[in-house]
Amino acid sequence: MESSVRTDTAKDRKVTIYLVTVGIIGVIIIVAAALRSWGYWGYFGGGFLVVSGFGGLLGKMKEGGFAVAPCPGCGAPLKFQFAKQARILQCASCGLWSEGTETMAPVPDERVADFPVFSSPLPEGEVRWPANDAGEVVCSMCDRPARFIKIEGMDPVRALGSMVLPVSVSTVHSIMVPVCDEHHDGVALLVSGSQSALGFRSRAYQLRFCAVNGVMGMAEVSFSVLRQRSKGVTEGRHR
Ligand SMILES: [Zn+2]
Ligand SMILES: [Zn+2]
Repeated sequence: MESSVRTDTAKDRKVTIYLVTVGIIGVIIIVAAALRSWGYWGYFGGGFLVVSGFGGLLGKMKEGGFAVAPCPGCGAPLKFQFAKQARILQCASCGLWSEGTETMAPVPDERVADFPVFSSPLPEGEVRWPANDAGEVVCSMCDRPARFIKIEGMDPVRALGSMVLPVSVSTVHSIMVPVCDEHHDGVALLVSGSQSALGFRSRAYQLRFCAVNGVMGMAEVSFSVLRQRSKGVTEGRHR
């Protein structure tokens, strides 16, 4: 059960044309600045556009542009950015988690990701944490008994300060999570504007968490969306 990734041609072409246009306008401004002695600001403005346009194009070639792959579960299109990078994402239609770079396949239950990509909606009311047979709450990465630490929400959009988003009073910006002495990054609080969710590195733990809390469905905010948004905002600032 594997599906192939292909370039999202329409979207990719638009972005490419945009970046090339920006670069060419930059070149024209630099040439005009030289011919007409516009001075520093002409070179500065032209150079800025050249770097934004052609630099953006180089980045897109390196990391891959917009792409699409059918969900290995239901065939609905999974759309994403950074076609050349490994990714783990959830299908919006059937909820299946899949992973891969050039092909997408279902995520095995024992997968531990490098980042807290496995997102779950926050339970309404009190959060229950998976425990061992003795009733002790365990670490999200191993099965050792855990202690609780307070973590803050990850909100790259807000961190970059590029947007002023309305904050709803119900938004959770910090939470107590179980950790052991070795694993501090197994659980993350994902926040974007007024939406929040929990992200886990361990797929197995995510399944346990959802089971004990009775939560299902898709989180309103996911790690990959936050990541795309933060990159997009970073790139957007050069434009
Ligand atoms: Zn699907
Ligand atoms: Zn641990």
